[in-house]
Amino acid sequence: MGKITGFKEFERQDEAYEPVKDRIKNYNEFTIPLSESEEEKQGSRCMDCGIPFCHSGCPLGNLIPDFNHMVHQGEWQKASWLLHSTNNFPEFTGRLCPAPCEKSCVLGIIEDPVAIEDIEKHIVERAFKEGWIKPQLPKTRTGKTIAIVGSGPAGLAAAQQLNRAGHTVTVFERDDAIGGLLRYGIPNFKMEKGIIDRRVAILEAEGITFKTNVNVGVNYDVKDLKAFDSVVLCGGATERRSLPTPGIDADGVVQAMDFLTQQTKVVFGQDIKDQVLATDKNVIVIGGGDTGSDCVGTSNRQGAKSVVNFEIMPKPPGHRSPTTPWPFWPLQLKTSSSHQEGVERNWLINTKEFIKDENGNLTALKTVNVEWKMVPGERPQLIEIAGTEKTWPCDLALLALGFTGPESTLADKLGIEKDARSNYKAEYGKYQTSVPHIFTAGDMRRGQSLIVWAISEGREAARQVDIFLMGKSNLPSKDMTGDLVAL
Ligand SMILES: Cc1cc2nc3c(=O)[nH]c(=O)nc-3n(C[C@H](O)[C@H](O)[C@H](O)COP(=O)(O)OP(=O)(O)OC[C@H]3O[C@@H](n4cnc5c(N)ncnc54)[C@H](O)[C@@H]3O)c2cc1C
Ligand code: SF4
Repeated sequence: MGKITGFKEFERQDEAYEPVKDRIKNYNEFTIPLSESEEEKQGSRCMDCGIPFCHSGCPLGNLIPDFNHMVHQGEWQKASWLLHSTNNFPEFTGRLCPAPCEKSCVLGIIEDPVAIEDIEKHIVERAFKEGWIKPQLPKTRTGKTIAIVGSGPAGLAAAQQLNRAGHTVTVFERDDAIGGLLRYGIPNFKMEKGIIDRRVAILEAEGITFKTNVNVGVNYDVKDLKAFDSVVLCGGATERRSLPTPGIDADGVVQAMDFLTQQTKVVFGQDIKDQVLATDKNVIVIGGGDTGSDCVGTSNRQGAKSVVNFEIMPKPPGHRSPTTPWPFWPLQLKTSSSHQEGVERNWLINTKEFIKDENGNLTALKTVNVEWKMVPGERPQLIEIAGTEKTWPCDLALLALGFTGPESTLADKLGIEKDARSNYKAEYGKYQTSVPHIFTAGDMRRGQSLIVWAISEGREAARQVDIFLMGKSNLPSKDMTGDLVAL
């Protein structure tokens, strides 16, 4: 423990943001880092708990009190080593993770929790600046070859771990650039794409081969995967949800992912013909989650006339709901930096119709207010409240309704079983599909989730592949009880 009285002496401080009026003029990241001495104070707020609940809150099992202590001591290189021992890509999670560790931090019971995520980001950025993050090449090669399908955080984590074990790894990606949703889902203002390129350069220098524009099962025959000793499917859960609502085919009703991807490609310098733009439009974002919030931020940057957000669920409480006490992930209202940039948020509202003009262009949305009827033992029922119908002028409706699961092409062509939720079936901890040499990890196995879970699953799946190929593994694991073969 760095400083016994740290948590009593210092208040939590987070990174500041550039003013809204400046940051919405561009697509760059807009956080202003704390000074190093302030981060060292923040590290000293950690109480080094006897039972550090932050550990179990973090899907990676990050060694949080240990790196907090090192930061407080000014031992940044040791902090970086500790952080990387459980997390391949802290620069992604340090920017984008909703930080379940902080929600389960013991200090959070009586005070603001330790600023774990900011500390994590500061450690990894310092490490890159100092040149401490170097390619780690395996001492020997095993002669085994592995194909990884999908280059999101799960695929990248699995690739790095398997390469470290000495296997020869090829990553196939159907997009024109590496990163999965980090690249073309999450907007640049949440994470600039040079952050991915910087890490991919390290992975390439370690000996991993990346092949972009290769859509396995479409322009690459799945039979060619037979050339590999093992395959890890990390294709994400990209099947988008729509609405069974009249008028959904109106010109101006657009899937959020199309809208977000196009803008990121434009930031990247690509020419997008007929880009969907929110400029001077009345925009309604349907769906109150992270994707919806990213649409709000992008619409404001494009110069929307108005931005409104609909959510069918009730407004969560401002503070942790008693139904989700500490240390659980709290049911609580989340106001993102994009929300702060300007949006009218509405809860308990359902879209009844997309109204279009004679040319098929969207002009308005018809809605009704709703309530949820809860009957014990039954599914919640959605009840419309009579007399609450309303028409909202709208020329761009963005559908941010989440994803129904992974695409089925690979499962169909490779003969892989799926579970009841249409995810690729593989037991948690084992990651092995119904085809023994094929493994799966990340959103493809668990459904749309979080970056931190994708990295965790990629790491754990890599260990299982290593055991499958070699009979044992020296790769680390947060939990060895799921091993295919006991060591
Ligand atoms: C808009 C948006 C914002 C989000 N924001 C956050 C956030 O702030 N924080 C957070 O923690 N999580 C966030 N998430 C969720 C997070 O991005 C995902 O949980 C995570 O990226 C999943 O990683 P993955 O590697 O499993 O899959 P993905 O990142 O989806 O990557 C899968 C990759 O596989 C490729 N692929 C699929 N099939 C094939 C094939 N047949 N051949 C070749 N390549 C293929 C795809 O092109 C894709 O690149 C967000 C999601 C969205 C949509
Ligand atoms: S729970 Fe909070 S205070 Fe306790 S060790 Fe973890 S970060 Fe430190």
